[in-house]
Amino acid sequence: MKPVKVFLDESEIPKQWYNVLADMPTPMSPPLHPGTGQPVGPDDLAPVFPMNLIEQEVSTERWIDIPEEVLEKYLLWRPTPLYRARNFEKLLDAPVQIYYKNEGVSPPGSHKPNTAIAQAYYNKAFGIKRLSTETGAGQWGSALSMACQMFGLECRVFMVRVSYDQKPFRGIMMNVWGANCIPSPSDKTEAGRKILAEHPDSPGSLGIAISEAIEDAVGDEDARYSLGSVLNHVLLHQTVNGLETQKQLEKIGVYPDVVIGCTGGGSNFAGLCLPFVRDKIHGKEISVVAAEPTSCPTMTRGPFAYDFGDTAQTTPLLAMYTLGHDFVPAPIHAGGLRYHGMAPIISHLVKEQIMEARAYNQIQTFEAGVQWARTEGFISAPETNHAIAAVVQEAERAKEEGKEKVILFNWSGHGLVDLAAYDAYLTGKLQQYEMPEEEIARALQAIDGLPKP
Ligand SMILES: *Cc1c(COP(=O)(O)O)cnc(C)c1O
Repeated sequence: MKPVKVFLDESEIPKQWYNVLADMPTPMSPPLHPGTGQPVGPDDLAPVFPMNLIEQEVSTERWIDIPEEVLEKYLLWRPTPLYRARNFEKLLDAPVQIYYKNEGVSPPGSHKPNTAIAQAYYNKAFGIKRLSTETGAGQWGSALSMACQMFGLECRVFMVRVSYDQKPFRGIMMNVWGANCIPSPSDKTEAGRKILAEHPDSPGSLGIAISEAIEDAVGDEDARYSLGSVLNHVLLHQTVNGLETQKQLEKIGVYPDVVIGCTGGGSNFAGLCLPFVRDKIHGKEISVVAAEPTSCPTMTRGPFAYDFGDTAQTTPLLAMYTLGHDFVPAPIHAGGLRYHGMAPIISHLVKEQIMEARAYNQIQTFEAGVQWARTEGFISAPETNHAIAAVVQEAERAKEEGKEKVILFNWSGHGLVDLAAYDAYLTGKLQQYEMPEEEIARALQAIDGLPKP
């Protein structure tokens, strides 16, 4: 029998996270204080994050120990299996081997608890009693709810209104894990009330929900804010995944030619690929591909610029690919990955051409996801389907070129709470959508006048 899965023993779980800042070939542009235009210091961030996480955010140590208490919780579902997608390979009939890391086996069903657990632990250790956060479709909100419950913290989640109404199940998961889930924009914050006054039936956006969650956290000394993607410490925590994968591939004597992940804020992609990026920086020939939607084409069509992380302009200015901080994706978009910006680490590596970004339209991604489900069985998160579309494209190229290729990608989560999006696809309600040039130009007005990296 041909092997399908590679497991690690629990004792083989990585004991340290990998920090790519130690190996960056060129310096990154620092986050700036929007008032002074100067780089932000740890004290500027202290009302928002606990100091132990701020230290991680700016650390350039290559290896950072994973605390015992975090490892203990990771072991509930980690190490996750590495799969070979033999059935999908057969369907594609191309000279490729396809490996995928299954992050859908965590309790909330995605990679997100890799950082949620760590963030809850560090906040608890710093003496914080409550975390406030935002969520789009609800994966992050549910992951943080579970993590807070495990470490005895209260959790408040501002959930983008349109998702709150259309996808009630993740809100229920949050309630089961003991959290409070509030539709955003809400009347609980200044930022929310301001939006509601202008647009009473606003569908909300991630940028608005972030503003609400930060305001809520900063107004309470015992509370801090928590972000599920984008920031350096979040990407750091996710590297447990790529480090496991390297051990698994080593066991079967395989090294990938291409590493692929879907990108919203960049965390699941970073988690898998950064340990391989380290190899690339030291000379390995490998391509690293980020897959994003054509309806939120941050890296493929946005500029590399300084921009705010949120709509109400409360965060520091981050140097990143961006569509402008007041960007709201078209309502017909069903595939997630809606954030207007991109992790500064990922943005920098794309700018330096160490990785590349490609965009896929939603019909393409659901087509790939349905083919996947009909061969490999697992129903992917709509976000994950972008990575699968990129795998299909790589396989087609390999076939055209007659070149053998080993493809590795991150199966970031399952889609069992996203079936309404599959229903829309299967009943022909989804359309192909590319952001029109005028719309991009309009969105980018938001960054006019900000400093340039
Ligand atoms: C949240 C999420 C993403 C996108 O976020 P990143 O920070 O870019 O990883 C992708 N896949 C799944 C399953 C998610 O839950």
